[in-house]
Amino acid sequence: MTQPREHAVVIGGSLMGLLAARILADHFTRVTLIERDRFTEAVASRPGLGQARHLHVLWSRGLEIAEQLFPGLEDELRVAGVPEVRVPADMLWLTSAGWRRRFESTRLLTFSRDLLDWTVRARLAKTGSLRLLAGHEVTGLLAGAEAVTGVEVRERGTTGPGEPITADLVVDATGRASKTPAWLERLGYPAVRQTLINPLLGYASRTYAIPAGFDPGWKALYLQADPPHGTRTGALFPQEGGRWIVSLFGVGEDYPPTGDDGFLEFAKSLRSPLLYEAIRDAEPLTPGVSYRRTGNLRRHYERMRAWPKRFLVAGDALCAFNPLYGQGMTVAAKSALTLDACLRADGDLDGLARRFHRKVIKNATGPWLVATGEDLRYGTTEGATAGVRTRVLNRYVDRVQHLANVDPRVCDRFIDVLALTAQPQSLFLPEVLWRAATTRTRPPAGPDDLIP
Ligand SMILES: Cc1cc2nc3c(=O)[nH]c(=O)nc-3n(C[C@H](O)[C@H](O)[C@H](O)COP(=O)(O)OP(=O)(O)OC[C@H]3O[C@@H](n4cnc5c(N)ncnc54)[C@H](O)[C@@H]3O)c2cc1C
Repeated sequence: MTQPREHAVVIGGSLMGLLAARILADHFTRVTLIERDRFTEAVASRPGLGQARHLHVLWSRGLEIAEQLFPGLEDELRVAGVPEVRVPADMLWLTSAGWRRRFESTRLLTFSRDLLDWTVRARLAKTGSLRLLAGHEVTGLLAGAEAVTGVEVRERGTTGPGEPITADLVVDATGRASKTPAWLERLGYPAVRQTLINPLLGYASRTYAIPAGFDPGWKALYLQADPPHGTRTGALFPQEGGRWIVSLFGVGEDYPPTGDDGFLEFAKSLRSPLLYEAIRDAEPLTPGVSYRRTGNLRRHYERMRAWPKRFLVAGDALCAFNPLYGQGMTVAAKSALTLDACLRADGDLDGLARRFHRKVIKNATGPWLVATGEDLRYGTTEGATAGVRTRVLNRYVDRVQHLANVDPRVCDRFIDVLALTAQPQSLFLPEVLWRAATTRTRPPAGPDDLIP
C-alpha cells in the first residue's frame, strides 16, 4: 500500500542523521532534521559529538558512499587540507603479529571528525526540502494506535512540555544514548532486549603541531596491542591544519591518562617507542581528553514482536561497535543506502522498519564479529566469553595477520574485511587458506626494515 510521503523527521544531526536525511530528501516532500546541539558557522567541536576529539578513520567503502551521496565531497575535503595516507604504504604498522610490510593496499583521507560532519552538513543544508532544527531536543514520540505519528520537541535550555511535530516517518539517529527504549516503554511496548559486549576500553587523545621539517619516511603510526596480555595501543595520524591526532587506547580498564606526563608515559609504554619519540618534543595544540563509552552494543529491535509503524532506528542507536576498529561511520553509510533501497523497493511505510532493521543487522554481522572477536581475546571483556568457535577463529585470524604482514594479496583481503568491502568469511577463500598453509616468510624484524 502506498502512503503519503509528505514529511519525514530525523532525530540526531551526526553522521547517521545527516546521511539518513540526505536519503529521505529523495523520497519525501519535506525533511526535518532535529539536533540537540547548536551548530556554529565555522568547524568547531560540539558536546553531542564528543568522540570527534578522538581519532576517526573512515574506511574506503564509507568514503565511497559519502561521495556517492554528495558528489565532490572528497575534493572539498582535500581542498580543506585533508591529507591522504596510503595504508600501509605510508604507515608504520605494528600488528599483534609483528611489523607489516608497507604494501599499497588502500588509502584513507585523514580528516578530523568535526570537519567531516561540518562539510557534509553544509552540503545537506543546500537541499531545498530540508529544515535543520538545531538547538532542539526530542523528548518523546507521538503515537496513534499502531504507528508513530511524530515527535515532541523542546528548545534546548527551556522546560515544560514539548511542541508536537507530526510526520509520516520518524528516524531515530541519536547514537548510543538513544532514548528509544524508554520512549517505547512509555507507549506501552515491552522492554527492549540488548546485548553489550564491553572490552572496558578507554581512549585518551590530543592533537600536536607537526614539527617543521618532520620527514622520517612515514606519515602515520599504528602500534597495536598484543592480546591477551598486552592491553595498550597507540595511533598517530596527520589531519588538516598541519597537525597530528594522537589517540592512546587501553583495554580492560587500563585507561590512558590525559595529563601531560601520564599521556607521554603511556605512549612510552607502547610496544614500540616510535610514537613517544615523535610527540615527546612536539607542541601540543589541545589538552588530553578521554572517552570510555566504547562497548559493542546491539539493541534487538529486529526481534521485537510489537513495533510501532513508521518509526525506525539507525546508526549507533541500533548497533554500536568498539570504535577501535573504525567501523561505525561506514556501517552508518551502508545503512543509509539500505534505507534508500527499502524505500525504493516498496511503497509500504508501515512495514519499512522491519525490512530496514533486519537488513541493517544482517549487514552489521561482519563488523560485529570483527569487533567482538577481537575483544573476546581479553578475559576482562564483559558480557560474553570466548567459546571454542571464537578461539579457533582467532587462532586462524592470528595466522592471517602474520601472512598479511608479508603477503600483499593477504594484506588486501584483510584490509577489505576491516574496510567493510568484504565479509570476514572471505578470509576463508581458497586463495587465503592455501597461502596460510604454505607461506613461511618472516615478517620485517623492526621499523628500520621498513623505512627507506
Ligand atoms: C571515541 C570514538 C571513536 C570513534 N572512531 C571511529 C572511527 O575511527 N571510525 C568510524 O567509522 N567510527 C568511529 N566511531 C563511531 C562513530 O563516531 C559513529 O558510528 C558515528 O558518529 C555514527 O553515529 P550516529 O550518527 O548514529 O550517532 P552519534 O554520532 O552518537 O550522534 C548522535 C547525535 O544525536 C544527537 N542527539 C542525541 N539525543 C538527541 C535528542 N533527544 N534530540 C536531538 N538530538 C539528539 C546528538 O547530539 C548527536 O549529534 C567512534 C566513536 C567513538 C565514541
